[in-house]
Amino acid sequence: MIPYGQHDINSDDIEAVVEVLRSNFITQGPMVPEFENVVLSYCNAKFAVAMNSATSALHAACLSLNLGVGDLFWTSPITFVASANCGLYCGAEVDFVDIDPVTYNISISALQKKLEQSKKEGRLPKILIVVHMCGQSCNMKEINELSKIYGFSIIEDASHAIGGKYRGNKIGNCEYSDITIFSFHPVKLVTSAEGGMAVTNDEELARKLRLIRSHGITRDASQMQGQAQGYWYYEQLQLGYNYRMNDLQAALGKNQMLRLDIFLKKRHALADVYNYELLNLPLITPLQIPDSFSAYHLYIIRLKLNSIKADRNRIINILRENGVGANVHYIPIHLQPYYRAFGFRPGDFPEAEKYYSEAITLPLFPSMSSYDQHKVIDQLKAALK
Ligand SMILES: *Cc1c(COP(=O)(O)O)cnc(C)c1O
Repeated sequence: MIPYGQHDINSDDIEAVVEVLRSNFITQGPMVPEFENVVLSYCNAKFAVAMNSATSALHAACLSLNLGVGDLFWTSPITFVASANCGLYCGAEVDFVDIDPVTYNISISALQKKLEQSKKEGRLPKILIVVHMCGQSCNMKEINELSKIYGFSIIEDASHAIGGKYRGNKIGNCEYSDITIFSFHPVKLVTSAEGGMAVTNDEELARKLRLIRSHGITRDASQMQGQAQGYWYYEQLQLGYNYRMNDLQAALGKNQMLRLDIFLKKRHALADVYNYELLNLPLITPLQIPDSFSAYHLYIIRLKLNSIKADRNRIINILRENGVGANVHYIPIHLQPYYRAFGFRPGDFPEAEKYYSEAITLPLFPSMSSYDQHKVIDQLKAALK
C-alpha cells in the first residue's frame, strides 16, 4: 500500500541521534535549545519552546494565554481533534467557525458574522485557534484585524505548515498571532518522532510556556520569589506538566530541518504533477491562493459528486483495494461522539460537512517515486470511470 504520508530518515539523521545516545545527556541537554534556535532562525521569530508533541504545545499555549473555566475558544471543525481538545483541557468551552469552501481554512466571512453575533450575546471567545489546512496559511492579516476589534488572542496551529509562507514571510514569524505551534509527528513536514514546538515573539508568553513545559518549576533566580539557596534550589511557581522533548528527538528534528526546503520542493513538484494529471477529472484540485506558499503537508482533492456514480467512501475503498493508501482529513470535529455530547449536530457547519463528503487525501511525501505517483493517478482515473 502506498501510504498517504511517510517520514524520510537518512544516515545523517541516524548519526545525529546515535551521537546523543553516546553523550552525557539524553534529555535536558544541549540539543533541545539547539533545535529551538534552528526553528527560530528559520521562521524569524524571537522565542521557541520545544515540547513532546504539538498537542502538549497547544495545551501549554492555551494555558499561557490564561484560558480557563468560564472562557470560550473557537477553532475550525476541519482539523485534527487536538486543535479543539487543547482548550477543553483548560476547562474552557469550545465552538467552531465554518470553513471556506475553497481553501478549507476558517472562513473569514463566517468568522466576522459569528463575532458580531457573539458580541451582542456577550459570548466572545478568548482565543481563536486557526489551522493552516494542508500547509496553506489562513488569511492572518484579516484575522488579526478582527482580533483587535473583538479582543481575542490568536494561536496558529501550524502543524501542517512549517516551511510555508504567508505574504512573503515564513509561517511561524508570529506577525499576526500570539503563538504558533508546529508538530513533528512522522507524518508531518519534518519529524522528531514525536514532538512539537511553540514559537512566539512575546517574552512573557515564552517564560510561561517554559514553566508549563516543566512542572511550573524555575531554576532562574530572577524569577524566584525567595532567595536561590544554592545549586540544587528550584521553585515551583505554578502548576505545570512534564511536556519536555528529549535530546534524541531534538537531534533528529534539528537534523531534519536541514532538509526541510528540499522536502518542500519535492512536495511541490509532486503536487504540480497531480494538478496537471487530474485536470480533466470530475474533481477539484487544491487551489493555491496568491499570497501564500503552502508547505503541502496534504494533497486533498474534492470529488464532484454530481458528475460521478460512486460516493467518496466507495472511491476510497476502490483505491485502497488497489494499493493506494488514500485517506480523509478530517472528520468534522463537531460530529465526533465526544463533541456531540456538547450539543453539536449535523448541519451546524454545512461547508465543513459538504467538504467531508467529498474530500480524499492522496499520497504525497518527499520520497514518493514517480512510478508510485502514476499508480495513484491511474487508479484514481479508473475508480472515477
Ligand atoms: C498532527 C496535528 C496535531 C497534533 O500533533 P501531535 O504532534 O501529534 O500532537 C494538531 N493539530 C493538527 C492540525 C495536526 O495535524
